[in-house]
Amino acid sequence: MTNNQNHETWAELLHSAVRTPGKLLAAYTAFHNYSFGNALLALTQCHRRNLEPGPLNTYRGWLEFKRQVRKGEKGITLCMPMQYKKRARKDEPEGVESEEVTRSTFGFRAYWFVLAQTDGEAMDTIPIPGFDLDTALRTLNITRAEFDEMNGNIQGFATGREIAISPIAAIPHKTTFHEIAHCVLQHTTNKKLVDSEATPMNLREVEAEAVALICCETLSLDGVEYARGYIQHWLRGQREIPNHNAARIFTAASMILKAGNPLEMGCTLTA
Ligand SMILES: [Zn+2]
Repeated sequence: MTNNQNHETWAELLHSAVRTPGKLLAAYTAFHNYSFGNALLALTQCHRRNLEPGPLNTYRGWLEFKRQVRKGEKGITLCMPMQYKKRARKDEPEGVESEEVTRSTFGFRAYWFVLAQTDGEAMDTIPIPGFDLDTALRTLNITRAEFDEMNGNIQGFATGREIAISPIAAIPHKTTFHEIAHCVLQHTTNKKLVDSEATPMNLREVEAEAVALICCETLSLDGVEYARGYIQHWLRGQREIPNHNAARIFTAASMILKAGNPLEMGCTLTA
């Protein structure tokens, strides 16, 4: 995604969500069926165009709910997986047919409309999904290990698909999401990651802490201040969170929240 398009990059969406308390929760409340990047993308467009954030659907999708998109309404842009066919060039002598293969990529399309852009029959609102930590851990194939570190500053650690949280951790649920993020982001494949009270300033830790921030804020849990401060500190150092890492953060946070929803319906696009 480049800046000359009329929507924000994942990095820009993440930076603004970190700076604006309440934005992640607002995005999740209105667009919890979508992945985090898309939820923030939709929310930003609604704010800019003065549209009430609410259920999203395609033109045809709304018809199924007996609602019609109003004339002249412009679609909301989201990121979606797209497939395309490509002829695979073979190093074969001339005259041999080249093979057609299907590739997938992600693209941005303005195919969606919010409820406020439609008219028709009344709709039930979709309840916000619940979250259960044990369900999330089971779904993500992560187990809890015994906390065996003697150092009282250590809050938690992650190794392989195991996490452990100190019984005296300052903000246990924040540390739990941070350690789950290390597993989901595959930071833990070959070594034990130990987190002490002060999160070291590196990009892996930014990723894990940003995921913890998104999860805590979305579930209205306390302890987001440290995560927010940590990421703002990183950004103030003129260090960008690259777009690629912002996308990874949104994908991991969406995956964790979805995994903890006992009634997951499945409608996630990307990031
Ligand atoms: Zn960490």
